[in-house]
Amino acid sequence: MTIPSSTGATPVMAQWFSLKDQFPDALLFFRMGDFFELFFNDAEAAANALDIALTARGNHGGQPIPMCGVPVGTASNYLARLIKKGFKVAVAEQTESPANRPKGQKGPLSRDVVRLITPGTLTEDELLQAGQENYVLSIVFSAKHKTTKLGVAWIDISTGFFETSSINSSKLNDLLGRINPSEIICSKDIQLNDYENRRTILRDTHTLKTAEKELSSLFNVNTFDALGNFNDEEIIAGYELVHYIQKTQAGKLPQLSRPQSQQYETILAIDPATRNSLDILQNSDGDQKFTLFSSVSYTVTAPGARMLANWLAAPLTQIKYIQTRQEGWIYLQQDALLLTTLRKTLKGAPDIARALSRLSLGRGQPRDLASIRNGLEIGRNIAEVLKQFEKETGRSCSLIQNTSEYLLYGEELLLSLRAALEENPPLKLEEGFIIKAGYNDELDAYRRLRDNSRQVIASLQEDYKNKYNISTLKIKHHTQLGHIIEVSNTAGNKIQNHPDLILRQGTANLSRFTTIELNELSGKILEANTLAAEKEKQLFTELIHKTLQESTLPLLAKSIAIIDVLQSCATLYSKHHWCIPTLTDDTSFELINCRHPVVEAALQHKTTFTPNSCNLSKNNKIMLLTGPNMAGKSTFLRQVALSVILAQAGLPVPASEAKIGIVDHLFSRVGASDDLAHGRSTFMVEMTESASILNQAGPRSLVVIDEIGRGTSTLDGMAIAWSMLETLHNTIQCRTIFATHFHELVQSTQHLKSCKPFTMKVQEWKGSIIFQYEVIPGAAEHSWGIHVAQLAGVPLPTLKRAQQLLQNLETQYNDPQITLPLSSPFIEQTPTNQSLPYQYEEITEILKMIDPDELTPKKSLNILYKLKKLI
Ligand code: ADP
Repeated sequence: MTIPSSTGATPVMAQWFSLKDQFPDALLFFRMGDFFELFFNDAEAAANALDIALTARGNHGGQPIPMCGVPVGTASNYLARLIKKGFKVAVAEQTESPANRPKGQKGPLSRDVVRLITPGTLTEDELLQAGQENYVLSIVFSAKHKTTKLGVAWIDISTGFFETSSINSSKLNDLLGRINPSEIICSKDIQLNDYENRRTILRDTHTLKTAEKELSSLFNVNTFDALGNFNDEEIIAGYELVHYIQKTQAGKLPQLSRPQSQQYETILAIDPATRNSLDILQNSDGDQKFTLFSSVSYTVTAPGARMLANWLAAPLTQIKYIQTRQEGWIYLQQDALLLTTLRKTLKGAPDIARALSRLSLGRGQPRDLASIRNGLEIGRNIAEVLKQFEKETGRSCSLIQNTSEYLLYGEELLLSLRAALEENPPLKLEEGFIIKAGYNDELDAYRRLRDNSRQVIASLQEDYKNKYNISTLKIKHHTQLGHIIEVSNTAGNKIQNHPDLILRQGTANLSRFTTIELNELSGKILEANTLAAEKEKQLFTELIHKTLQESTLPLLAKSIAIIDVLQSCATLYSKHHWCIPTLTDDTSFELINCRHPVVEAALQHKTTFTPNSCNLSKNNKIMLLTGPNMAGKSTFLRQVALSVILAQAGLPVPASEAKIGIVDHLFSRVGASDDLAHGRSTFMVEMTESASILNQAGPRSLVVIDEIGRGTSTLDGMAIAWSMLETLHNTIQCRTIFATHFHELVQSTQHLKSCKPFTMKVQEWKGSIIFQYEVIPGAAEHSWGIHVAQLAGVPLPTLKRAQQLLQNLETQYNDPQITLPLSSPFIEQTPTNQSLPYQYEEITEILKMIDPDELTPKKSLNILYKLKKLI
């Protein structure tokens, strides 16, 4: 944004210029009384984005200054909209109040930016999605390995979650796909590809020494090593991130968990193209409908939903950790009553982590403290339910036992909060009534004083009514005037000369008076009110301090989330009769009666889903799958890939049995993939993705790939598909399902020993085909392309012409290697029941309905036209 020169600015505008200068990339929300005002280009951009009026205020450089504003009270709604549109906002508050100003001081009130709001540094519930993490991530080049190695760190400031990793630059896209950060802090020369619009330029850089020193002091350790093992670039990335966050929060930091270094190999690698093709957490519209997450989540809390999303986004590769998760939900699914009770108990659990983060940033409100108290209560209730079950059954599970221990932390804090906090405190501190009566004597005394005075006022009103003989007289509280006597003007005229009364204000209809007595009382009430509010604020601050001292709260928050995810898995398992997958260290792969969770759920009311098995073990490593379009190939491919994600995330699998040798890298290329936005044709995208598979897949990978070679000529395409299949078979030797519409490939690849042909079963019926959705050994005989075109509604003349052309082509091709479909529903030229099943039925219906003897010539002609239209 270009900012005009500040020369000649008024004092207030000079202040605006100096703040804007510090935050040139952000819209400056400049507090002026009850409004945040925006000026110049900021005003134009915000008015446009928010659809609010653009006005002007005064002049600068001979031109009116464009201005727009939003009321302070509703600013968060506007902020949310701006942040969603990708803006950053710097909030400049008045840092002195007119009341506290030294007398005689002139010039504008001082103002300062108290917070920079960016997409990655949000803490308010209105700005965040309850069930989704919101990460800010930083990337730096490694000093030793320059461009080939990167240090990455990511933090969700709304929960304090902090992780780092050291990766090869080629893996950056995978990592970004997994973390899906809202904001990325890095220098200009780091390639962000699809994430370019989330970049914030890293302006400050720090040395390793500073980073180690600062992080050590932040986490209260003497030497950095005490935090764990980190590569140099991770430490720098971690500190750059912390530094950036500090800057956005005007020097403050939320409570952060100690950073954890994540080894790339411990997570199943899934590149962005695979994520897109599998709709794991989001569909192509960016929402959760028809995603893997939505079909498996039975979580009842927002932190549980976030943790489950994390599990699905980053499945594991180490069997022991996967098994620990499995053991947790296997234990819980033993008893339906236990699950129901757990779900009920969890339902009211608050978002402790997010409340804690707001409290630690000084942005906490009474409701946040209530969340901590309720969380501590609910934690205890959950632990009780689990303990009771253990006692009754005599069985136990170590994950559940450990987690239950954390649920009991924070006893002392709970007692304090219980004693101090009102059951349902108000949203804002200023509203008062946060601290319970009986908790603090001093507060009680002020409140008594205030309440007593209120009673005195009520009786005074009665006295005055009698004294002045005005039955409608009222004593009211007025923000500027304090307590006043209010009467109609007619009554006011009668009493205005009374010596006890002092006229304060007259309006068109009302007269307002005060008396010395009332004035004194009003002052007392005001004082008592102020003292009560100050005391309440002090007690509230003490409670926050006490809460922040309780270092076990993050563990409690995590434990509630874990129990929620485990009950979600147990519920899923019991409700849908999925299976507990067996995970092995070899490359076995067997799914029996496997289903696609999303397609199955979508079909539920119409028809049943046909389960399919898949064996890619030992000598069956490659499944070569042929079959017409719409026969269920891509559904099958996806369900196999999704089963791997579910199994390695530690969840049940939609099959009757599943044995999976740990997969280290999952590749899924299913579904059309135009990338016209980046100027790449379907074929280019296909080839780029094929290259990425062939360059990266290894013997432990799983590749599911659909229709390679679509975007070029038949022979070209087939040759590419063929050689790719050979490479996967001979060189990479990974588990693969290769779906293709080139059914001729089956014959050509007979010599590949571990490659077995399968096809989608279809049944021919009266010249039409019925999809069976069953994967059977063998190869497809026909493409049935023209039939599918008919299903899609291609007009009949085009279909007939295609049929003719197909016949011609078939006769031209004599090459035995290339066998084109021999029959099709459109070979016959005359419409018969065989060739035109739908039209034929309609024609017959019409003919059945008419009686030729009854027809007028006009009617017959109309019917003839109608029949003609049908062929
Ligand atoms: P293809 O990839 O062969 O063109 P799809 O996998 O896209 O076919 O499947 C087309 C439609 O068929 C799906 O949208 C779904 O409605 C249905 N379908 C697929 N697989 C099955 C199945 N196993 N059981 C029942 N219906 C299925």
